[in-house]
Amino acid sequence: MPPVFRFAPSPNGYLHLGHAYSALLNHDLAKQSGGRLLLRIEDIDATRCRPEFEQAIYEDLAWLGIAWETPVRRQSEHFAAYGAAIDRLAAQGLVYPSFESRAEVARLVAEREAGGAWPRDPDGAALYPGAARSLSAEQRDRLIGQGAPFALRLDMAAARARTGGLRWQEAGEGPAGETGEVTARPEAWGDVIMARKETPTSYHLSVVIDDALQGVTDVVRGVDLFWSTSVHRLLQELLGLPVPVYRHHALIRDGAGQKLSKSTRATGLRELRAEGAGPADIRRLVGLP
Ligand code: GLU
Repeated sequence: MPPVFRFAPSPNGYLHLGHAYSALLNHDLAKQSGGRLLLRIEDIDATRCRPEFEQAIYEDLAWLGIAWETPVRRQSEHFAAYGAAIDRLAAQGLVYPSFESRAEVARLVAEREAGGAWPRDPDGAALYPGAARSLSAEQRDRLIGQGAPFALRLDMAAARARTGGLRWQEAGEGPAGETGEVTARPEAWGDVIMARKETPTSYHLSVVIDDALQGVTDVVRGVDLFWSTSVHRLLQELLGLPVPVYRHHALIRDGAGQKLSKSTRATGLRELRAEGAGPADIRRLVGLP
């Protein structure tokens, strides 16, 4: 079976040099290995994703000389598949509803931090400080019955109790040079959100379901997602999904050494193209042969 690669952008802005690097790397690796290249549109966040950004992704990738298989999987069309996975986690008693608003969570974190250090996840966000896990079934039912909005969280302690040591094969490098067999540390993320009221899934859940469903064998993506792989490994284990090989790559930085953002005009592919750059210039700018 040929290896299967994927490029999975979110259409919440225009692509920049960092995306070009990731897409071209996936394209090159697929080509070198006689593999397939899939494109997946990660558009679960309806408040931030826009059709013109999705259209621009297709145009920019084609301009770069990248070809992908069709049909393209658009995550917003598959909420039912993610819902079914959440049902499976719920059936194992591994998710619970939490009813605090974002402001309430922030207030609880401030309270915890006033009492000493409170742990933060690998992205720097404070772990969930609430006590929703210990609400009784009656309390939950009453709040849900009243129409209170809630997020579904993974009960990390319960999930960990069901899984042994988790590892993944890293063909690239983590932020501290981690490579080869890496030990997953999902507990560093606390009780992560699996679904929200306005978005009935989450990045972690949909990415894991889709990679499995699409038969992805090689996940090639930016090192900013390195430690997310811990949560992905945990979900794969809980849902009985196959485990791809991971290759996290360095991020392209701007002249000041900052991570590129979708709003930086200087490194946007559309801007570079308007200034007369060609696909070969983009390859050179991101350091690809
Ligand atoms: N959609 C994610 C992003 O644009 C990438 C997800 C992944 O490659 O796992 O950052």
